[in-house]
Amino acid sequence: MTSILLQNIRLLNPEQKLDRRADVLIVGGKIAGIGENLDAPEGVDTRDGSSWVAAPGFYDMHIHLREPGATHKETIETGCASAANGGFTGLACMPNTSPAIDSAEVVHSILWKSQNLPVDVNVVGATTVGRKGETLAPMGELYEAGVRMFSDDGDCVRSPEMMRRAFEYASQFEEAVLSQHCEEHTMTVGFAMNEGAVATRLGMPGYPDIAEELIIERDIRLAEFCGDRPYHVSHMSTAGGVESVRSAKARGKTNITCEVTPHHFLLTDEAIEKYWSNAKMNPPLRTEEHRHALLDGFRDGTIDAIATDHAPHALSEKEIEFPNAPNGIIGLETSLGLSYTYLVDAGVVSLERLIELMAINPRKILSLPIPFIEEGADTNLTIFAPEETWRVDTTKFLTKSRNTPFNGWELKGKPIGVVNRGDVVWSGL
Ligand SMILES: [Zn+2]
Repeated sequence: MTSILLQNIRLLNPEQKLDRRADVLIVGGKIAGIGENLDAPEGVDTRDGSSWVAAPGFYDMHIHLREPGATHKETIETGCASAANGGFTGLACMPNTSPAIDSAEVVHSILWKSQNLPVDVNVVGATTVGRKGETLAPMGELYEAGVRMFSDDGDCVRSPEMMRRAFEYASQFEEAVLSQHCEEHTMTVGFAMNEGAVATRLGMPGYPDIAEELIIERDIRLAEFCGDRPYHVSHMSTAGGVESVRSAKARGKTNITCEVTPHHFLLTDEAIEKYWSNAKMNPPLRTEEHRHALLDGFRDGTIDAIATDHAPHALSEKEIEFPNAPNGIIGLETSLGLSYTYLVDAGVVSLERLIELMAINPRKILSLPIPFIEEGADTNLTIFAPEETWRVDTTKFLTKSRNTPFNGWELKGKPIGVVNRGDVVWSGL
């Protein structure tokens, strides 16, 4: 356990209406003191925090740890190291592993491997056995093991009847929330990118926006039909999706929530001609019109959370002909900088709202406690330098993979470190 004294740091937590500048003393995993000119006990690592912000630890609710099954791409250990390096103290890992996370046994093994790491790991369980969409997963057993969110991520639960049964089954478990990778698979067979002018020009098979929008609308209707069950849209990429969630919220359905990735609010399908397979993902990068609809969704509060969909792949897997390259990019070490630069610095949302999007709302959706910054509290903090510009350099990344279009980008808002459960990790970015 490291003890640290952060001097003259801005403490910011909208959940506790906290915004003040003070010294913070952290001893033995707890906040031992907050005040002016605190004395540093012997052996305490003292840092000048005058250009830093300390916020409740950031939480990425949608990432792929690749373990079990594809540890050449990532492991629980490297994924958590990457998360801490990027400024996260917690994450939720998706169940499209091999085997899929559809039994308590797999959940326990992931939790056991992550228990001594500085990043809290929560496991998302599969909605159906093997993510095949044929039989419901044993949700009771998964819930008992700590699972709160269920998703067949990577695939959509195709059958509305199966989704209805999932909502009804999950209603027995108070904190359970169903999430969906929203893709009407019959409309996306063999797709390589968004359907539209760029796909036509490149001669690539497309994934139309309506294929996402139909499932979002279907599921919101099903969630309401099954007694207003909580429902969370994964990595939303379309204007129609934003509209569906917005109108659900306007009807008072506050338990209909959604997340958006930095790459979807930043890039469009035009990026493919520059970055090729590092701009290939599912859902695909859309058009400027959709991107602006996402920004509007941030502005009016329709979008609840930023999640990266961190999807590590080996270089050899990505560097093949475009249509056959695997989908997804890494995201944990660029999320804070991209979100700060293109949402806060660009004037789309306030810094307080960014903290809600990256630290508070993801935990609320998953029924996790919100870290407070007050004397006696367990420390769970993200420290970052909002005004510091830095260049993304993948050689400094701790993820095993390097599939990102953002290498070399100059960003504002640099992760400085995280403090969680007595662990202090300074970022090497
Ligand atoms: Zn997905």
